Amino acid sequence: THFGFETVAEAEKEGRVRDVFSSVAASYDRMNDLMSLGIHRLWKGNFVRSLNPGRADSEKGWNILDIAGGTGDIAFRMLDHATNINQDMNTRVTISDINPDMLEEGRKRSLQTPYGNTDRLSFLQGNAESLPTVESNSVDLYTVAFGIRNFTDKDAALREAFRVLKPGGVFACLEFSHVNSAVFNAVYKRWSFGAIPLIGQLVAGDRDSYQYLVESIEQFPTQEAFKDMIQNAGFLTPGQGYENLSMGIASIHKGVKP
Ligand code: SAM
Repeated sequence: THFGFETVAEAEKEGRVRDVFSSVAASYDRMNDLMSLGIHRLWKGNFVRSLNPGRADSEKGWNILDIAGGTGDIAFRMLDHATNINQDMNTRVTISDINPDMLEEGRKRSLQTPYGNTDRLSFLQGNAESLPTVESNSVDLYTVAFGIRNFTDKDAALREAFRVLKPGGVFACLEFSHVNSAVFNAVYKRWSFGAIPLIGQLVAGDRDSYQYLVESIEQFPTQEAFKDMIQNAGFLTPGQGYENLSMGIASIHKGVKP
């Protein structure tokens, strides 16, 4: 079987995640806007600004790996930031994703950006838990936005992030997280468990995939627990280790490879 050493539950999760993203690939960007009321754009902008990718004074630029990069949203924003804010034309991004349908959407979208078909952008299909074609100590910045909660073995993915980063390189994760206000949490839970599967059904004709997304958010570790996982993979986590966005609906975690 294709199960290898995985348990049946793990293989089921992987298959489930694959199906979810294959079925939402085409409607993915529109659904993101609807589900988050457009706020995911602000979070992504915040994420990229906080990383400040690119540097003007170097001929080499940054080598960025955007894991679970999907349709390329984070990658294009990082290249825009490097180019327009830091006047860096050399920084490049590899968009990596397990799902070929999502990557294909990303490839199509890239043709509408200045980076399509240039050496500043490349695509790599693969599982974040094992990236055999990415050299150790080769990456300046590893990003993963709204991806890691879908991974079967998050610790393996964190270890792999640690391996591929250069010493001094940064791991940065933007992910749905846990709301830090009881009152607001009650409102948020009603929205996510009530409205999101319904919107999924009405707009994408697919209730189950969106139900899965809501449940995967609920099951993701708390901010503190996730910080511990990042530390366990070997990273230093400067300051508090994370930043809450919109009262913890999402959070940004960072780790530095010593
Ligand atoms: N980063 C993009 C963004 O912020 O718009 C896409 C996020 S999308 C919610 C999650 C992505 O994770 C999907 O494209 C899915 O295929 C990918 N994914 C899920 N499991 C993965 C794994 N084990 N390795 C790599 N990518 C994975």
